[in-house]
This record gives sequence, C-alpha cells and structure tokens, in this order.
Amino acid sequence: LAEIDVVVVGGGIAGVSIAYELSADRSVTLLEAESTLAYHTTGRSAATFLETYGGPDIRALTAASRDFYEDPPAVFDRPLLRPLPLVFFARRGRGAAADELYEATAGMVAGVERLDAAQVAEVTPFARADALDGGVFEPGARELDVHAIHQGYVKGLRDRGGAVVRDARVTALRADGDGWLVTTADRTVRAAGAVVNAAGAWADLVAALAGVAPVGLRPLLRTVFLIEPPVGLAPRGLPMFADLDDSFYVKPESGGFLCSPADETPVEPHDARADEVEIARAIEAINETTTLAARSVGHRWAGLRSFVPDRRFVLGEDPAAPGFFWCAGQGGYGIQTAPAAARLGAALVRGERTPADLAARGVDAALVAPRRPGIGIPGEAH
Ligand SMILES: Cc1cc2nc3c(=O)[nH]c(=O)nc-3n(C[C@H](O)[C@H](O)[C@H](O)COP(=O)(O)OP(=O)(O)OC[C@H]3O[C@@H](n4cnc5c(N)ncnc54)[C@H](O)[C@@H]3O)c2cc1C
Repeated sequence: LAEIDVVVVGGGIAGVSIAYELSADRSVTLLEAESTLAYHTTGRSAATFLETYGGPDIRALTAASRDFYEDPPAVFDRPLLRPLPLVFFARRGRGAAADELYEATAGMVAGVERLDAAQVAEVTPFARADALDGGVFEPGARELDVHAIHQGYVKGLRDRGGAVVRDARVTALRADGDGWLVTTADRTVRAAGAVVNAAGAWADLVAALAGVAPVGLRPLLRTVFLIEPPVGLAPRGLPMFADLDDSFYVKPESGGFLCSPADETPVEPHDARADEVEIARAIEAINETTTLAARSVGHRWAGLRSFVPDRRFVLGEDPAAPGFFWCAGQGGYGIQTAPAAARLGAALVRGERTPADLAARGVDAALVAPRRPGIGIPGEAH
C-alpha cells in the first residue's frame, strides 16, 4: 500500500481548506462520500461574513480570515467578498442586549455603531422603527462567494499534488502501526500517516468507525427561503437585517430576500429539508418588524449547523488516538472562519503550536482541543 501523509474525510469547506493548507508540505488525499463536493452544509449557507457574530474565539477566527478573503492566493477567483452591511436589531424591550453586543464588539470590529430605532430605519428602509429598540450596525460585514472560495481551495489542493476523490464514503478506519488504514465503500484501502475528520454533521460517526469516542456533536437544522421584494423596494445595496435574539434574519439576494427562521432543531445527520412550520413562524416575525409583506415563498432549503455544547470548534489530535485529528463543530461560522481555522488545524496536524498571528488575537488551541472539559456525551467515559 502506497502511504499518503494525510487522508482528509469530508469535502465541505472544512475538509478542502485544511487539505489545501496541509498540501503545502504533505501528500494529501481528500475523500468525499457524495458525488458532489459541498453538497451538504457548505452548499446551503447564507454566505455571510459577520465579524460581530458568535463568541469571542469565533470572532477572532473570523477577523483573522479577512485578509485571506480580501487578497486570496492567485489560484482563487476574485473578488471573494462583496459589501453587505449588517444590522443586528433588538426588538422592543431588548435594548440591553444590543448594548451588550455593542460593548463586546466595538473595540474589535471596525466601524461598529449602536443605533437607535430611528437610525436603524434610516439604514434599513424596510424596518418598522416602532417595533425596535435600535440595534448594532456593522458597516464592514460582507457577503462571501462560497462557490469561488470552495473551488479555489480545491484547485489549490490539486495544483499542489493533492487528490480529491468523490463517491468515496469512508466505511472503516483502523489504526495500523504509526498510521491508519482507511477503507471506502468501494473497498479500496488507503494507508495514511494521519486522518483528519472533517465530516461535518457526521464527524462523531466517522470517529466511531475509528473506535474514537464522540465529542457530542449536535447537528441543528436551519431553514432558508426566498421571498420577492415588495413593489417599489430594490433590495440591492440594502443591509442584512438580523434579530440579535434569533427570531429571523433577512438578506438581500438576487433581486429578492433570502430569509431564515434562524431555527435550531436538533436532528440526526441527514440530507436536510426545509421546515415549513418554521417558515410560517418566520414570516410572522418578519411582518411584525418589517414592511417586507412576506407572503409567497419561493425556493427553500435547509442545512445542518453542527455544534458541541460550548459552541467552539473541535480541532487537533484526539489524545486517545494518535494520528486521528478532528476538524469539526464549525456550527454557523465554518465559511467565514475557514482560512484561519484551516491554518490552525493544519498547524496542529504538523505538531506545531497555534500560529503566532492567531495567538495574538486570543486564539488558543486548548480552547478547541478535542478532550477539553465539557466535551463528549454526558455520562460517557472516554
Ligand atoms: C442555513 C445555513 C446558513 C449558514 N450561513 C453561514 C454563513 O452565512 N457564514 C458561515 O460562515 N457559515 C454559515 N453556515 C455554516 C456553514 O455552512 C458550516 O459551518 C460549514 O459549511 C460546515 O462545513 P463542513 O465542511 O464542516 O460540513 P459539510 O459541508 O457538511 O461537509 C462535510 C462533508 O463530509 C462528508 N462526509 C460525511 N461522512 C463521510 C464519510 N464517512 N466519508 C466521506 N465523506 C463523508 C459529507 O458528505 C459532507 O460533504 C450556515 C449553515 C446553514 C445550514
């Protein structure tokens, strides 16, 4: 058996980005179960880059990814980012939550402003000022070209000699000497020095194949649907408008609006479908706080955002399984954080420390370590 340095399991953004980073100085083969890469969560996102979103370490990884997306390696198409200002609004009575978000992000994210209700309505002409206690404005938020980002990583990986194999579901993983034997559904066996588990919602199942304890990943279903704009409103150039309490968000998209109930329904890993009950609830919430007159729903879809309980990523080697590395738990931020998270994940595979620029932003490998406190299934021993 020819030995590969690293086999990466999963061809979503997590898998292709870490595979690209590792291929700079390792032989890498990426195995994807589906016939199409990015078929699951990565192909179903809202495609936003929001530096005020998520906890402090997510914000740090997002901020640390900005330079890469603004000025990517030559193999990527450009631009990868387009302007998309963001208003995180507070419903009436929730002004304190907007104050809190503002205080947590103002020093870190350029241009962040605390707006009152009238100011929110000024930047967001479809907002109902009387329903709001203002909000937080992030003028430098961006829309991501997810397809170009994913393609750029795949092309870069191939250019560096890496292999991408589709229709290659990993069905068995066995420790063998210093490395791993990786079997796919067609019974091909590959010998690898290390395995990176970037299987998205399926990462705990892939770990189980290797006899590795789960990290307690919970796939949460999130629905997206498109609506037409009301007569006389041109969506182009308008901001994204998101409830900081997660009742819904809307984002201008190809002549209409992309909407989400911001639902988080725990499910088993599967090919996700839109939740019609959540769509109906979101339409009501949209019409309470905006003049979008949301009614007829066009195209709709859903994806799985997978989190461990503390909502941090899971990156690094499993202490119980030498050569088995996690790259999971990207939740709702896997694309906006991919450049920095992939560099961190790749450093850990190489046995290096947290890259200095990430450490300077407060990113700490211990906070994303696979067996940190609070990880795993409660009551289950590792
Ligand atoms: C509605 C929605 C909106 C979102 N909006 C944003 C956003 O605006 N910005 C942002 O940054 N993030 C957003 N996210 C989150 C982002 O999409 C995810 O964090 C990211 O796509 C996760 O990537 P992944 O590679 O881990 O997972 P996936 O894309 O699901 O990839 C995992 C892959 O592993 C493969 N796999 C599984 N088991 C095996 C096996 N045994 N063998 C081989 N392959 C296997 C799967 O087929 C799959 O292709 C959103 C998510 C959703 C659902």
